[in-house]
Amino acid sequence: MAADRPQIHPSLENIIDSAKSMSTLVNNLLLLARHQGQLPPESLKKVNLNSLLENLAIHYTTVAAKESLKLISHLPEQQIELWADPDLLRQAVENLLNNACKYTPSGGTVWLRLEPHSDRVVIQLIDTGIGIPEADLPHIFNRFYRVDTERARENGGFGLGLAIAQQIVEAHGGHIYVMSNEGKGSTFQIKLPLRSHS
Ligand code: ATP
Ligand code: MG
Repeated sequence: MAADRPQIHPSLENIIDSAKSMSTLVNNLLLLARHQGQLPPESLKKVNLNSLLENLAIHYTTVAAKESLKLISHLPEQQIELWADPDLLRQAVENLLNNACKYTPSGGTVWLRLEPHSDRVVIQLIDTGIGIPEADLPHIFNRFYRVDTERARENGGFGLGLAIAQQIVEAHGGHIYVMSNEGKGSTFQIKLPLRSHS
């Protein structure tokens, strides 16, 4: 009956949301379990980092626009190729992009930058969001760690995104860093070595 719809609708939406969030949790736990340590050489492919990031930027520009956020990407002309597992690398950057959009209030800006160096590349995610208190910074890469803020509670994640991103980056021989100012914004950096395939 049409009159019943307003009651049915919200509860169905809740069920769909819980199912989606359980499925994200299961996928994330599987990812963490599968990729302990270094990646086997056979899983590495030559990856064009410019196009991987460009595709992510295109997708997230729409996501960001829905939240009234501006996403600006700065990718160099120089094409950067490295040996990596493209799906995992995409997942690591996506986790940071996702956080940058989630923890930045409307009207803010998120930058995605790629900087080439002679022996390494640096991928940076900079946001004008809520920032992270200094006391929480040493813990944010721990599994299930979430800063206890109203915004974090509203956004209901599991505290796995950064743990997974760190594990993926380290499995590629890289490192992940954070700098943040509470109330002003955060910068996450992924540094990956450029080396020939052995
Ligand atoms: P999930 O990624 O599993 O959906 P999550 O986003 O809470 O959940 P992480 O991505 O691991 O988990 O991040 C851990 C915590 O670090 C977040 O709960 C949030 O408090 C803080 N955080 C991460 N990125 C940012 C950011 N760009 N700005 C402000 N806080 C952040
Ligand atoms: Mg997250």
